[in-house]
Amino acid sequence: MKKVIIIMGPPGSGKGTQSEIIAGKFGHYYLESSKVIDAKLAGVLDNDSEEVEGKKYILSEQKKKREAGEIMAAELVTSWMLNKVRDLSKDGEDLVVAGSPRTLYEAERFMPLLADLYGKENIVVISIDLPEEEAIFRSCHRRICSLVRHPILYYEETKDLTVCPLDGSELLTRKDDNTKTVKIRMEKYRKETLPGLEYCKKEGYNVKEVKGKQTPAELHEDILKVLND
Ligand SMILES: [Zn+2]
Repeated sequence: MKKVIIIMGPPGSGKGTQSEIIAGKFGHYYLESSKVIDAKLAGVLDNDSEEVEGKKYILSEQKKKREAGEIMAAELVTSWMLNKVRDLSKDGEDLVVAGSPRTLYEAERFMPLLADLYGKENIVVISIDLPEEEAIFRSCHRRICSLVRHPILYYEETKDLTVCPLDGSELLTRKDDNTKTVKIRMEKYRKETLPGLEYCKKEGYNVKEVKGKQTPAELHEDILKVLND
């Protein structure tokens, strides 16, 4: 099994669900940029700031950007992710990563660090391909549980649930899951994240594409095939 599995795809493509499955089955640490970001932004005060490469960032401004569905300062998010990866590799964790790298800037720093720490040959990047209208529908209909953010996808069997079937906690719609912000995120994905994926290909990382328009169980089977290649 690869030590580092990076799953990329547009909003709603099932990156999170697939990462949870892989983490559960193979014991990889699920490194999710949105959780790293949320942890950093929780409880920030108006004037809290952080300096990266000599530039100062006001955290409350970054939080507002995030809530509007915009991509935050790449320098800041990247430095948080790089530090997290260093800590995890020290702890001997294998990784499954969703939502990073999210920009070319991040890819240019994140991938070489992973290659240093884990070996380039131990990294695979899986790109989930999903039509835009499907991505928007899914994003606008999914929910997460309030306890540990279990993703609850929209199906006949799940659409009337009011609590998480795994832990009984309340189900929430993510603040940034509405048509307007999902469209913004789609466009950001195309303009800012795809160049990062291109970078991975150009630099000779092992990049594999899988079809996203299938059930999570079927998608997982496709991902397993890729991992066992
Ligand atoms: Zn739950």
